[in-house]
Amino acid sequence: MKRSSWISMTRPKREIRKEPGWRKLAIALALLPLILGAPGCQPESDPPRILIIGIDGASPEVAFPMMKAGRLPHLAEIAATGVHGPLRSVLPLYSPRIWNTIATGVKPNVHGIPAFVKPATGGGKALYLSSDRKVPALWNILSDRGRSVGVVNWWTTFPPEKIEGVMVSDHFFPEQIDMIKKTFAADRASEGALIHPQSWTPRAEEQLKNPASLTEFENFFDGAAELPRWVNRSLLSQQFVTDQEITQVALALDADHHLDVMMVFLPGIDRVSHWLWGNLEAEDLYPPTLQPSPEERAGGAEALRAYYAYTDALIGRLVAGYGPDDMVLVISDHGFEAGVSLMLLTGAHDSPSALDGVLFARGRGIPRGQAAGPVNVYEIAPSVLTFAGLPSALDMQAGPAKFLADLSRPDPVASYNAIAIERYAPSASGHEEEIIEHLRALGYLEEKEAPAQDQEQAPP
Ligand SMILES: [Zn+2]
Repeated sequence: MKRSSWISMTRPKREIRKEPGWRKLAIALALLPLILGAPGCQPESDPPRILIIGIDGASPEVAFPMMKAGRLPHLAEIAATGVHGPLRSVLPLYSPRIWNTIATGVKPNVHGIPAFVKPATGGGKALYLSSDRKVPALWNILSDRGRSVGVVNWWTTFPPEKIEGVMVSDHFFPEQIDMIKKTFAADRASEGALIHPQSWTPRAEEQLKNPASLTEFENFFDGAAELPRWVNRSLLSQQFVTDQEITQVALALDADHHLDVMMVFLPGIDRVSHWLWGNLEAEDLYPPTLQPSPEERAGGAEALRAYYAYTDALIGRLVAGYGPDDMVLVISDHGFEAGVSLMLLTGAHDSPSALDGVLFARGRGIPRGQAAGPVNVYEIAPSVLTFAGLPSALDMQAGPAKFLADLSRPDPVASYNAIAIERYAPSASGHEEEIIEHLRALGYLEEKEAPAQDQEQAPP
């Protein structure tokens, strides 16, 4: 009974016969919530779909003012038809541990992905793999309950898991200069599966070989725009391309399979902020020996904002396939703050100052044009399950967010941990070295291994 939860949420059809006036009025009042589309009254046709877009490192300090200024029209549309606000994260702000928390609803020491890398057998460091995740993620739970799920580039999805749907693992997009081209020259066969089902791999590769222009934005890192002289333009230019590729693969996936649930992760804002955030900060924070010129500083700040606008345009492409009843959820895992790396003023996310990311959500039963209220990363997984008409679990860290208060909430289950997760063999994808190098170049690998314990944090 794959759709039983949806069917149980619909009301039996009523037959309206000729009734006295007062009864007509009573019936009309009884039907009013149905007419107004109140929660729990879904028509039996198509249950609403769910689109979750992760935008790594998007800061409320940039996103909300830009939205108010009209520069993020698609996020503004979600905010106008739904809720938006800060999304409180959990320290330390290492992206994989937070994105896995978002996907599982449990603390990092419970889900088992506390950091970027772990000690490798035989010395050195290795990336955490999906096989290190100790609890089911949203895609496992939803797929187990009969929903078709697409996952594109979410953190720690290699080796891919055999979900009901398609999983394009994060190792399919190596995010390094020339890496995509190298990949095509290499023999994939020895690298293990990067996508489940493997039969969808040629279709995904086709997207990378035939890039469409998804937005009106030119790749401004390739242009003549003034940027601080130390900025690695080719790396940021590649990031611009990678985010478009991820979006294009997600669009192809939805066109092919019209999935019940889609989870897409765009890393670009984080990567660009690590290079350009310093341009938003006060001038006296720059080391006196290395200051950008006023033109470089203005150009750097504008390029960072332009990257937010570009990401908004990609979001617009993804959202275009979804109706007003469908859930659209856009979230980030943390914000940004000033940080000095290699004697440069850059961007960092180390302290409680960078604790808040952003949240935008709309869909059937979600209030329109309201503040989301305080929402934290633990509430995302239970919220998605609630919107899907499924119970949350008592062993998750929190329940659904308050903005879903109008939706009916099935009694929570004790746990989803018994769900069996099947994965491809964790053979090397061939990209680990490049990904680790890339993380090192961004200053991620200085001392960012597993913390002994999860830290609880106070608001900044
Ligand atoms: Zn992040």
